[in-house]
Amino acid sequence: MLLDANLTEDVPGDLSSELVIIGAGTVGLYLAAALAEAKKASNIILVEAGPRVASTSLNSFTSTSVGKPHEGVHLGRAAGLGGTSSLWGGQLAEFSHADLEPPGAVWPLSYEELQKHYRVVYQRLAIGSPASMAFYRQKFGGETEAPGSVERFFTYWLHQPNFATLYKSLIQSDPSIRIIVNLTANGCEFDGENARFLHCKSASGRNLRIRSKRFVFASGTVATSRFFLSTQRDGRVPWASNDNIGLYFQDHLGGKIAKVSILDEKRFRDYFENGWVNGIKLQPKLTLSRALRQSLPSGACGIFAFDSSVSENVGNIKRTIRGLRSGLAFSSATSRINDVFAVGRSLLPIVSRYVRNRRIFALFDRSVMFNVQAEQIPIASSRIRLQDADRAMDGLVPVAVDWRCDGREIDAIYQLAAESDAYLRSRGLAELSIDPALQRRDVAFIDSLGDTYHQCGGIRMSASPGTGVVTSDCRVWGTSNVWVAGAAVLPSSSHANCTLTALAIATRLLASIQ
Ligand SMILES: Cc1cc2nc3c(=O)[nH]c(=O)nc-3n(C[C@H](O)[C@H](O)[C@H](O)COP(=O)(O)OP(=O)(O)OC[C@H]3O[C@@H](n4cnc5c(N)ncnc54)[C@H](O)[C@@H]3O)c2cc1C
Repeated sequence: MLLDANLTEDVPGDLSSELVIIGAGTVGLYLAAALAEAKKASNIILVEAGPRVASTSLNSFTSTSVGKPHEGVHLGRAAGLGGTSSLWGGQLAEFSHADLEPPGAVWPLSYEELQKHYRVVYQRLAIGSPASMAFYRQKFGGETEAPGSVERFFTYWLHQPNFATLYKSLIQSDPSIRIIVNLTANGCEFDGENARFLHCKSASGRNLRIRSKRFVFASGTVATSRFFLSTQRDGRVPWASNDNIGLYFQDHLGGKIAKVSILDEKRFRDYFENGWVNGIKLQPKLTLSRALRQSLPSGACGIFAFDSSVSENVGNIKRTIRGLRSGLAFSSATSRINDVFAVGRSLLPIVSRYVRNRRIFALFDRSVMFNVQAEQIPIASSRIRLQDADRAMDGLVPVAVDWRCDGREIDAIYQLAAESDAYLRSRGLAELSIDPALQRRDVAFIDSLGDTYHQCGGIRMSASPGTGVVTSDCRVWGTSNVWVAGAAVLPSSSHANCTLTALAIATRLLASIQ
């Protein structure tokens, strides 16, 4: 059931529930749906700061980027129903064995534990049961060799990435779940270790209180640190003296690392174009082998990026349609005729490749680049902290995201480029011209890489209270009934997109909160 906190008749000032989930974004809606499916949702409230239609418009009031420029602070998060799932592509990628168990790894859970929960997420999100990587390697290009220093792996795309659409019927008609939009959680009242009330403020300025037995923060990486840091300032919460809040903020480092010269186009397409196998849409990528990864302080994966004039033609057509809708003169629209022909010419190979092979024909008349998505080594100085500012309208203090990098990531990025070049040449597929600064392993090369909208950390999971914010079950240290769900709890973030792992850990959390 969907309610609006701005409407007094919808939402009274005092509410009570069995469980409150803070955030009706990707992880919050996933949790609510899982509870509803297990018939464990008798009286759940989801509190959502944004409106019915999610957008990035609140970000500039709540946060800013300091340190290494971080684009995602402003553009890579959305508030409102569905949260950031309204922006993402919905690509699921698993962390690997080596990510959780390199020398010095800080995960209080095993890889096997995580993998068990990946399988549950796949079922819940209609991916089903993926086959082995070796099977997909065989399907895409007939590769049968044992993996060397780098290997191909595959990510899975969701059929419906926007969770506000995916869970539409739950949002609109499940009587056991009340989702209240335009309501920001900004305080928590405790009796010893036990949280009793959540304090909230509506967008129209009303203060509300929700009594509950359990509280789960699924409010996104940056906003969750913002809540815990702001309430820490009040001093009456069990995390008042926890110095770890906001620390070890991470994102993936992304950008171009090499130009690609294709040697055998047909086989290159077979190896690296996206496609479907047994109803699952896959994207092929390259990553370091387990042995090579374990010899390095961080991981990395490589993705081919295709540039084509047809993408520009499509962009022009879209802009023209928008222009016509808003009253642009027809004469400007007719100059788009060449764009329509260019797109039309490309349709035949796209359709034929799909019908014959269930593959997505990549268009690259301009260039092919090899891009990296690299793991960032978690460091305490990369952190989210409160700005020296008054509380914002929602009652929380704005935060500064001070993103910093260690620099040792350069080794994994270089190894990925060099070993991928060897992999491609040895198979006669392509050659890489690696960026000269990367070839010199110049640490300054890291400055040219940006974030990839994969914010992680700040509310780290730890084996002991002195080294993190939540237990391995995601319960906030020092509390008996407050949990955090999302990528904020990840102690390290692999090279893989983070949301599948955030959902797997949230799945594990379900056992504690039911
Ligand atoms: C363009 C783009 C592409 C991406 N592609 C991928 C991808 O392919 N694969 C992948 O794994 N990841 C991807 N990501 C990252 C992924 O989208 C996020 O990691 C994920 O959606 C985060 O989910 P979440 O539930 O933690 O946060 P969100 O979905 O952001 O939800 C948090 C919700 O909590 C609400 N909230 C916050 N604070 C409060 C408060 N105090 N009170 C009440 N409500 C609050 C927010 O308004 C928001 O709606 C991408 C991101 C972007 C921007």
